[in-house]
Amino acid sequence: MKVQNLAEEASDFTGNIWKFKRNGETVLIDAGTGDSWKQIQNLEKVDKVVITHSHYDHVDNLPKIADLFSPRVYAFEPENLPVQASELVEGEKISLGGLDFEIFHTPGHRDDSICLHSRGEKVLFTGDLVFPEGGFGRTDLDQGDRDLLIDSIKKLEGLEVDEMYCGHEEAVFEDVEEQISRSVREAERGESKY
Ligand SMILES: [Zn+2]
Repeated sequence: MKVQNLAEEASDFTGNIWKFKRNGETVLIDAGTGDSWKQIQNLEKVDKVVITHSHYDHVDNLPKIADLFSPRVYAFEPENLPVQASELVEGEKISLGGLDFEIFHTPGHRDDSICLHSRGEKVLFTGDLVFPEGGFGRTDLDQGDRDLLIDSIKKLEGLEVDEMYCGHEEAVFEDVEEQISRSVREAERGESKY
């Protein structure tokens, strides 16, 4: 699937802003912060925004996006966002660009964290739960909990994934399932990068 990172050229710290356009719908996964806004601003339209969790580096641009494009916004705990949003629940399927994505509630980095998986396209958006090469989300912040994080990553094991898009760093297209299992092992013993 063609997915672009609008935060790729940002000069300041931000979470990734994944964008895909399919079936006439423009979808963003996370909203980012800082000068990544310049890339969002240039879009023709934004129909839907899904927030993986409410840390500022993933939601800060939301009010500006809402003002300019009036998209439908989705999150696990909408009350944590600066704009109106629809609530997602564990196990729910949401249609994005004509694809069904299943919602996984994945606390441990933050209580309202979710991952989205399309079984049809074998695409996974992870937020800050896992990162490439066995990376995993930091658990030293408010609401951080390493045991919960490990249980959450284990929820992703067994999913068929060809493409993984994380909240930071590059997309992963090879050995994704193996990398997720490595994240479980690293989280059980190691230090996090974020
Ligand atoms: Zn985060």
